[in-house]
Amino acid sequence: MDTAAPSIAIPFDNSYARLPQGFSARISPAQVRAPRLIHVNDELARFLYIDPEALHSQEGAEVFAGNRIADGSEPLAMAYAGHQFGNFVPQLGDGRACLLGEVVAEDGKRYDVQLKGSGPTPFSRRGDGRAALGPVLREYLVSEAMHRLGVPTTRALAAVLTGEAVMREEMIPGAILTRVASSHLRVGTFEYFAAREDTASVRTLTEYAISRHYPAAAEISKRYRALLEGVVQRQAALVAQWMGLGFIHGVMNTDNTSISGETIDYGPCAFMEAYHSATVFSASDRQGRYAYANQPGIAVWNLSRLGETLLPLMAEEEGSPEAALAAAYEVLNGFGPLYEAAYLRVFRAKLGLAQEQDEDAALVKDLLEAMAAGRADFTLTFRHLSEDDGSGAGEQFSNRATFDAWHCRWLARLAEEGSLQGERNAAMQRTNPVYIPRNHLVQEVIDAAILRQDFAPFERLLGVLASPFDEKPGQHRFAARARAEQRVFQTFCGT
Ligand code: AMP
Ligand code: MG
Repeated sequence: MDTAAPSIAIPFDNSYARLPQGFSARISPAQVRAPRLIHVNDELARFLYIDPEALHSQEGAEVFAGNRIADGSEPLAMAYAGHQFGNFVPQLGDGRACLLGEVVAEDGKRYDVQLKGSGPTPFSRRGDGRAALGPVLREYLVSEAMHRLGVPTTRALAAVLTGEAVMREEMIPGAILTRVASSHLRVGTFEYFAAREDTASVRTLTEYAISRHYPAAAEISKRYRALLEGVVQRQAALVAQWMGLGFIHGVMNTDNTSISGETIDYGPCAFMEAYHSATVFSASDRQGRYAYANQPGIAVWNLSRLGETLLPLMAEEEGSPEAALAAAYEVLNGFGPLYEAAYLRVFRAKLGLAQEQDEDAALVKDLLEAMAAGRADFTLTFRHLSEDDGSGAGEQFSNRATFDAWHCRWLARLAEEGSLQGERNAAMQRTNPVYIPRNHLVQEVIDAAILRQDFAPFERLLGVLASPFDEKPGQHRFAARARAEQRVFQTFCGT
């Protein structure tokens, strides 16, 4: 026990625990053998009004391992259902996660603080309730990188080793991630009650979601429709941001689709290197359902499942089931235009285009096609376009002549806009990162941690990813694409 450290106070202010019984199961996280801190996110702790110094202690390790329950915490496992790869599972729920409680942070908003990997719950089914070190480090790195890249996302507050081994393909060290989210309400949470035809609970959940995430909807007479609209808008914007970073979520099941519009559940996710619209990494996604280019289509499919759960409530405000269905279709049909507009906004910024023109979509599409044909690295192509006149991007293309032709077109467009290179470069460099958590870099970190108990590579990569838009001297290896022998083709859920 580190007696010098102040004791840990987390200003819990719980609301989900006040919802009716069927919404969750009260649980106690499992006691683990030898909790040891891997990392604490001091900046995020401060944001949550938690003294970071107190966390860097054996008590901190105990709290983030679930061995010690901080005052005010009401540990619970949330109930939810979900469509997994298109198939409905009426009961999933937190099988290895434990919501410790909620904190109202510096920005005045409410955040969930959740342990992931903290032992079995009534929702564990055949799972062991545990998390392995590899996926914990991956989620930590990728979620924090996404945050720094400006993408709405859950975050990582801490990672600990449990001192116990978990059985996966082999025995690997067990770990627990402390995740912070705007909430853990998912499309699957709505599906859980809707599938039981428990409209009263859908209503309770809907009111809760509105007050927590879409308070403006409460002021509108058609509040249920407004909720659906709000989620559609945020998911359209979110997926457009993913596309702009070459990010592939990998498991866009409805239980991994957040009502708040954050990226949640980093399993077999990855950033593309060589651009191809059909890229899939997840080993379990054999049909390519969640391929890069399918993500907007899958998002609207998931949102349609949310819409279905709201139909009984929408029927009240629309006057009939038929009118509710028509209203839901109208909202869901809005996804396409919202997404297209968000996508173009993202890519216009990536290309430094200040004006909106009809040819913008074609300019983007033709670049992407040239990248696919030329095996160009997604991230480096856009970054090099952000430097000088952008001709350095040509090195990415095996089909240099195709790039050169596109490049001439782009320069002509920029000239027409009267774009100034210096200003344009600066703006583009704020949206086109140098550093992303490339697969081989994440894998290197995981290998060092598992094989050598060496967490220095984790710390280094986390540090580089903390400012992804600023090129750092001597850190070229973190910007480079994988060499042939480093390439990672598949990622695993690790569940
Ligand atoms: P995920 O793939 O992490 O989104 O999880 C899908 C579902 O499986 C959720 O209900 C999880 O709680 C559950 N699950 C995943 N891994 C485990 C595990 N090791 N033990 C128990 N439940 C798990
Ligand atoms: Mg999940």
